[in-house]
Amino acid sequence: MEYVLETMSLCKSYRHFKALNGLDMHIPKGAIYGFVGKNGAGKTTLIRLICGLQPPTSGEFTLYGAKNTCGDIYKARRRVGAVIETPSVYLSMTARENLKQQYRVLGLPDFNGIDELLTLVGLSDTGRKKVKNFSLGMRQRLGIAIALCGDPDMLILDEPTNGLDPQGIIEIRELILDLNQKRGITVLISSHILDELSRLATHYGFIDNGRLVKEISAQELETLCRKCARVTVSDISALALILDKTGLEYKILDNKTADIYAHPNITKLTLALADVGCELLGFEERNESLESFFISLVGGERQ
Ligand code: ADP
Repeated sequence: MEYVLETMSLCKSYRHFKALNGLDMHIPKGAIYGFVGKNGAGKTTLIRLICGLQPPTSGEFTLYGAKNTCGDIYKARRRVGAVIETPSVYLSMTARENLKQQYRVLGLPDFNGIDELLTLVGLSDTGRKKVKNFSLGMRQRLGIAIALCGDPDMLILDEPTNGLDPQGIIEIRELILDLNQKRGITVLISSHILDELSRLATHYGFIDNGRLVKEISAQELETLCRKCARVTVSDISALALILDKTGLEYKILDNKTADIYAHPNITKLTLALADVGCELLGFEERNESLESFFISLVGGERQ
């Protein structure tokens, strides 16, 4: 397998505290790599190291085949765009002015491509509006557009949906999928929101206390875990009777809710429930498996 990023026993200490403690990570070319960990696990630290904002204490990594200790690493880093923590944007400028500024920083010969970028991230109609009047989601998308200015092959996004409303989250998700599928951009996306990641990631790396405790492809994870459907009904015992008859495995959570570990036919289920006077109040497909998998790896409640 061809890896865009490979880290070998990477360590980063802040005084006596080991934020990264022998981390081994492998990001395949073309992946959307979900970097999962509780707050404080070391995700941002790894990203800072990759981007050259801080040096490792020990260990090494290769980015596009270039070792972090070799001169080639600067060239490799030019193939990477990143949005770390909050995007760095000029609040008193428009979206277009922000992009022009980044083009100047990168020394690009002309401003061709800015229109395409604005369209790509859905900001083409913001005209003279200054960034300080943008929503958080718009700022985040502008941050991604800035990261895309050098036409990178890899994009690093640190908690890109943090604090966004549901619409903002959907827009960022669609943008990431688009960039990955249409432009072939490899994406490293750190998050502690598992539900969101599970809609995107092709690979996962689980980090805990500065160590990568597991790396797994979404496909492998799927075969390891089970998806479930969470149903809410007016009469839980009626639901239990019906599920017992169909032989589906389930778990009752409270007097209205149960998880069914299969993909039940909703029409049949609704009709069967209606026959016994029970209403189907809610139906939600859940990827709880990812969450349980994460908890089984790192233990405890996630933050
Ligand atoms: P995450 O991104 O997973 O939430 P971070 O990489 O930001 O975690 O932080 C990992 C740990 O390192 C945390 O305990 C944090 O307090 C600590 N840390 C991060 N940066 C510094 C720093 N500059 N100085 C001291 N400790 C730090």
